[in-house]
Amino acid sequence: MPTPPRPEQPDPPGHFHVDRTLCIGSGICAATAPAHFTRDPDGRARSRPDAPPPTPEAEDAASLCPMEAIAFHPTRPPAT
Ligand code: SF4
Repeated sequence: MPTPPRPEQPDPPGHFHVDRTLCIGSGICAATAPAHFTRDPDGRARSRPDAPPPTPEAEDAASLCPMEAIAFHPTRPPAT
């Protein structure tokens, strides 16, 4: 019996990653896209693990980062 075709799978949503070795804690990303970025007590940013799929606001945050510390990755990291 032939295998039925598999339905098209959408690309998994990617995520924005903060390189914390570059971050100077300006806070621009968290202010621009608070659903995607948050700040630790030391002021440096990190991606929210529960961030929604990429949005224009997150893209703006990445482009506004003065240290170019935010990069888009096409897949999410495995859950830890
Ligand atoms: S905008 Fe860039 S430098 Fe500023 S807090 Fe976010 S990641 Fe850090």
